[in-house]
Amino acid sequence: MSPIQILSKLISFPVLGGQSNIQIAQWIEDYLQSFGLKVVHVPNEDGTKRSLHCRIGPERDGGLILSGHMDVVPVKGQTWSSDPFVLTDKKDGKLYGRGACDMKGFVACCLSAVPLWIKADLQIPIYLAFSYDEEIGCLAAPALAKHIKEYYPEKPKYTIVGEPTMMKPVVGQKGIVIYKTTVNGSAGHSSRIKREVSAINEASRLILWLEDKMDNLINSGRIDDRFSPNHTSIHCGLMEQSGIAPNVISEEATFYWDVRVIPQDKASVILEDFQNYCDQLTTKNRLRFPGFDIQTSIFHPDVPPLDTREDLSIVSLIRNITGIQALGAVSYAAEAGQFAEAGFQTVICGPGDIAQAHRADEYVTKDQLDECMKMLEKLVVNNQHTI
Ligand SMILES: [Zn+2]
Repeated sequence: MSPIQILSKLISFPVLGGQSNIQIAQWIEDYLQSFGLKVVHVPNEDGTKRSLHCRIGPERDGGLILSGHMDVVPVKGQTWSSDPFVLTDKKDGKLYGRGACDMKGFVACCLSAVPLWIKADLQIPIYLAFSYDEEIGCLAAPALAKHIKEYYPEKPKYTIVGEPTMMKPVVGQKGIVIYKTTVNGSAGHSSRIKREVSAINEASRLILWLEDKMDNLINSGRIDDRFSPNHTSIHCGLMEQSGIAPNVISEEATFYWDVRVIPQDKASVILEDFQNYCDQLTTKNRLRFPGFDIQTSIFHPDVPPLDTREDLSIVSLIRNITGIQALGAVSYAAEAGQFAEAGFQTVICGPGDIAQAHRADEYVTKDQLDECMKMLEKLVVNNQHTI
């Protein structure tokens, strides 16, 4: 099947992050099995979702994992000019549909290349690894990467994550984590503000502390010019349950803050500093109100950054098969840092532009799919010589 035929099929499964992906996973499995491949499941606890992996080629060290996710983001509230779950060719060189770019286009190309790889009698194996729930926090990739490591007797060495990069090699990715913080103060008449503790006031101090923390990191020279913006960002974008009336001191305030780290920074270290400040505020406020409390929990799991060194052999490989020497960095979250943490040399490279992802009338161009197929075909030539 051509990449476009496969993409059309994949787009017809409207599997959002968080939902059961069994049907799309089953279709992919049936397709792979029709070539005699053994497909391995990595299910979630209740069996409603599964990641898949398989090997094409011999049981030999040094292989390459091609990684993609099967889920997409919702279309709710977006105005589409065609059905988002029907791949639509408007004869303008673009193929429209939810997931066309992020990232069923890459998955379709990989599946389309399978017969070619089988025929080529690979010397070094290629693995396909497809996950679920990427769009709600890259939840499945750590278990998938670990499973691949433990399942095969041989050692795969590399991963290419096919997120949209316009087929340019990307070696850096910011990490992301979102925290939820709840402050408990004491309710009372607003005239008593000097005797009670307002949760809103204390939450505001914390939010401004976070902004200062970001500025301090920047001012202390923690800059990485590969990224835009070139620093770790810390930001509170949502407050809720904060107060009940203008004349009542607020008893509870909850806010969410995201931390997007450049590779040299660590979200856990920022959290530790934040908690030290919380302890100071707590000690002070408990003198006035013993029940004062601040609780912080993880709302979106910590997705580690990617920082692949230029001297690693995955970089020569990706330069070789794309023909592009320049190395980029992206600020969006992806599974690449997780595969790198599992011990695979990892880069991101896939068809489509991230600017098209997650929006109405998402598309991938036919040219980008062609470019991706060329790269996957070059894996065969490269396979016999340089991996
Ligand atoms: Zn994606």
